[in-house]
Amino acid sequence: MSILFVAQHREMSPFKSAIEKLDSNMDVEIWPNVEKPERVQFAVAWNHPKNVFNSFPNLQVISSLGAGVDHLFADATIPEHIRFTRVVAPSLSDQMCDYVLGSVLNILQRTETYYDQQKQAEWLPQKAYRKKELTVGVMGLGAIGKKVAERLVLNGFTVAGWSTSKKVIDGVQTYSADELNEFLSQTNILVCLLPLTERTEDILDLDLFKKLKNPAFLINVARGEHLVEEDLIYSLDTDLIQHALLDVFSKEPLPESHPFWGRDKITITPHIASVTDPDEVASLLLDNYKRLLSGMDLMHEADRKKEY
Ligand code: NDP
Repeated sequence: MSILFVAQHREMSPFKSAIEKLDSNMDVEIWPNVEKPERVQFAVAWNHPKNVFNSFPNLQVISSLGAGVDHLFADATIPEHIRFTRVVAPSLSDQMCDYVLGSVLNILQRTETYYDQQKQAEWLPQKAYRKKELTVGVMGLGAIGKKVAERLVLNGFTVAGWSTSKKVIDGVQTYSADELNEFLSQTNILVCLLPLTERTEDILDLDLFKKLKNPAFLINVARGEHLVEEDLIYSLDTDLIQHALLDVFSKEPLPESHPFWGRDKITITPHIASVTDPDEVASLLLDNYKRLLSGMDLMHEADRKKEY
């Protein structure tokens, strides 16, 4: 039996090597060069082409190469009986904590304003925001969002958090799904770390932005499809939102002609907030593969009903 990696625009050989380093007997294949499709029971996918999984008659589990499984649920060509798992790993949340903390500190220090001023050789000191002036609200308190909220608390921020079911996290004012308005009304810096599902698609819209506390900022590190792009542009133009830091986009790479590129109130990074490390993920993938073969419960299996 074998593990198959299926990805587009991403090099999979480091993942194959990392698994083979842990178990030299493992048979690991990389799509599209699959010698024996009937041997594949476990696949790992990132940005896979539609219909690709129909060629593997004994496939049982597909693991996302990252934390999100939205790309798997979005592919209706994957047979219903196939189970999905995802990556939960310390370095994924640690990188995200660094990214979000760095972004929040840049907002406080008005770093973007100074970048702009430097281009014009302008020496214009601005008033920095104080930590106590701005509350950071984290949408999604899962494997990553919870760690991000904790890191912000550790750094002296006032933090609120929102999730389907109410959580208890030291130092964080938490809210459940039906308390969204209360959560938003005390949030200045909104950090989106939700999974992309039918319920969270387009959640970052004008109606939501209007409910944020002034001054308001957006950090979207989850998925581009959470955001209604024209509502963000309107909100930036009308000062409802002061600045947006975006790592994810509904179309990636972000097309050259996209209006976000030319905006000085938007900071763009190319989906790098947190990147799966081959050596760290190899043991998780191998463990799940072995669990599948021995009929044990899988680690981090996604729930088809919840879509995450
Ligand atoms: P989890 O599945 O562990 O956590 C999801 C959280 O969102 C849970 O707290 C869940 O609530 C909450 N949630 C889900 N649906 C709703 C809803 N409708 N209303 C309110 N809360 C909701 O995900 P992770 O923390 O591992 O990852 C989050 C996302 O981050 C990923 O899906 C991925 O898209 C993105 N990501 C982006 C990366 C990047 O580089 N930009 C890197 C890694 C991840 P409950 O706990 O009650 O179920």
